[in-house]
Amino acid sequence: MAKIVVGVSLNNDRTPLPSPVKCRAIVDTGANRLTLPLEWRDKFGAFPRSRKAVAQTASHTVDAEVCGPMEVTIDGFPPVSTDAVFMPMMPGEDGKYEPLLGHIPLEACGAVVDMENLRLTHAKYIDVKSVGDGGTVAITGGCHCGAVRYSIPCGGAGGGAGFCHCGACRKFSGGVGGAWLGVPEAEVSGEVVSYEHKADSGNVITRACCAQCRAPVWLRNSAMPTMYVFAAGSMDEPERFAPRVRIFCAAAAGWALPEEKADAMKRFEGMPQKTGGGG
Ligand SMILES: [Zn+2]
Ligand SMILES: [Zn+2]
Repeated sequence: MAKIVVGVSLNNDRTPLPSPVKCRAIVDTGANRLTLPLEWRDKFGAFPRSRKAVAQTASHTVDAEVCGPMEVTIDGFPPVSTDAVFMPMMPGEDGKYEPLLGHIPLEACGAVVDMENLRLTHAKYIDVKSVGDGGTVAITGGCHCGAVRYSIPCGGAGGGAGFCHCGACRKFSGGVGGAWLGVPEAEVSGEVVSYEHKADSGNVITRACCAQCRAPVWLRNSAMPTMYVFAAGSMDEPERFAPRVRIFCAAAAGWALPEEKADAMKRFEGMPQKTGGGG
């Protein structure tokens, strides 16, 4: 999953600056809010709402300030008001800061991630559902033997769900590819064995399997370090998986896209009789 960068303009919603702050921001659906460098805090003047907070990064905690309302306009989308988190950030390679756009401002202005074309697109509908079944009951799951278990709060709100037919997911699954449920937060228990590889994008993908039964359970992508991406087949209630995208279809084997080949295939509801086999 490559990085999506968009143009954004920012302003204090109640006492606007003469000209808004324009920047490039990284779409990070694994994050909740708009995250800005602490160094920019004073540019925006006083906000009606402001509180000190502690932000947790991948490796440590830092002092942060949550301020709002901030007017956020993503290029091509209507302006929305949202709270922003100011925290210490490292500038990118070009010396410029790259703020993060989390799922709250994205959903507020109707922007959804188009994984195939790696850009933001307009949502057809206002999304009142999450990747689960409405965002109130945790999604649970685990490996085949039960040693690894996970729980995703609130039905996976802010997440994404779909199939990946890339070569890595096909090899790793040993089948048609991956069915994945990506969520911003989850509790995971049990021992895993993990394997790292580099994607074509340069991002490091970590794939984890149960240390006992070796069933694939989750993967993580260095580009979205806060996100857990679970193997959808490991969910206790697989009907709650609501896939919306099918990515890397160009890399899919012809037999891996069943709906396009449905006419040519016999359909079985379960294991065909007489031939026997696993399952
Ligand atoms: Zn297991
Ligand atoms: Zn893949």
